[in-house]
Amino acid sequence: MDINSVVTPRMGVSAGEILGLFRGVSDGLTKADVMRRTGLSRTTVNQRLDGLLAAGLLIPAPEDARTRGRPAGQFVVNHDRGVLLVADIGATGLRTALCDLSGRVRSEREASADVTAGPQTILGIVDELFTEILEEEHQRPSAVLGVGIDVPGPVDFASGRVVSPPIMTGWDRFDIPGWFASRYDCPVLVDKDVNAMAFGEQRLRYPDVPHLLMVKVGTGVGTGLVAGGQVHRGADGAAGDVGHTQVTVEDTAEPPVCRCGNAGCVEAYAGGWALVRDLREAGREVVTVDDAVRLIRGGDPVAVRLARRAARILGGAIADTVNLFNPRVIAIGGQLAHTDELLFAGIREIVYRRSLPLATRNLQIVRSDLDPHAGILGLAQLLVDGIYAPQRIQELVDGAVV
Ligand SMILES: [Zn+2]
Repeated sequence: MDINSVVTPRMGVSAGEILGLFRGVSDGLTKADVMRRTGLSRTTVNQRLDGLLAAGLLIPAPEDARTRGRPAGQFVVNHDRGVLLVADIGATGLRTALCDLSGRVRSEREASADVTAGPQTILGIVDELFTEILEEEHQRPSAVLGVGIDVPGPVDFASGRVVSPPIMTGWDRFDIPGWFASRYDCPVLVDKDVNAMAFGEQRLRYPDVPHLLMVKVGTGVGTGLVAGGQVHRGADGAAGDVGHTQVTVEDTAEPPVCRCGNAGCVEAYAGGWALVRDLREAGREVVTVDDAVRLIRGGDPVAVRLARRAARILGGAIADTVNLFNPRVIAIGGQLAHTDELLFAGIREIVYRRSLPLATRNLQIVRSDLDPHAGILGLAQLLVDGIYAPQRIQELVDGAVV
């Protein structure tokens, strides 16, 4: 047995970690670069790179379009070794995409669909769109190395099942990974939509900020936490459901009933569906959350008053989360994030007043940059992390004929 294969993993320079060096640079690296960065001998670097090349994980750097030459001795990560399929399932619509192994979207499809139609119908639509984009990109199902699905409800992450979702009628305990298992021979990841959004926003927009809170104010109110650069799902996958914490609102005699069955939840006042309900009660002709957003943006006095109240209630819930969790960035997405400064001003005012000064000293409250693509981009990043896990890379290298 080669001594290096015994010694180097203990020294922290496995094939997976060397691949990690390549993933961390925008251009390629040469053997000399790898030797310099790891302190490994030429023989060991040669052996590691040969393994990564044989497994198809690395390729020689492609020709430079400007200089019309191949950068001498450079290697890059082979992001086209396979593809990823991701689907962001919302309450009233869904978005699917095919991504390369860097997580970059190569093709995308959207559809309107009510999530209450149930898992067979909704996943059937997702599967049709997946088939279409695979064909468009000239890829076979066998090229799919990961499928990622996010849903607007609580998910037991380990089993990939939705658990007692407030709005996803018919989905309780449905085996989503099992449904895809007969179609694609690869891992199927299922997560709560806001977790995927939080991860996408953190990885792609705030890579140097390991603690980020994502708040989605769409039909409902959802939150996702990234702590230490990883999604914080909690013991059972239920972490960060701020939308269903209870609040006391002074000008309300009877707390409104929430979609979860309780009364007085944050989203029963501040969710898009609650604003639609209150606007209709006030005699406004609104049907969808987008209608409500249009009224707010148009300056309708009732709509503006309700939106200000929603912002204060959200601000209170977010302030509590800030005290508990101390994020550096709060990214806000969802349709109601498009009510211009109204929502942000209200949230900022309450958060800066009620959270600890130490927690707000460097806090940024911003609109989500990636929304409405944050979900699919975050799913792709979650899958990429699994695909490039050092253990999995080692297995691929061991399995390749060098
Ligand atoms: Zn609730």
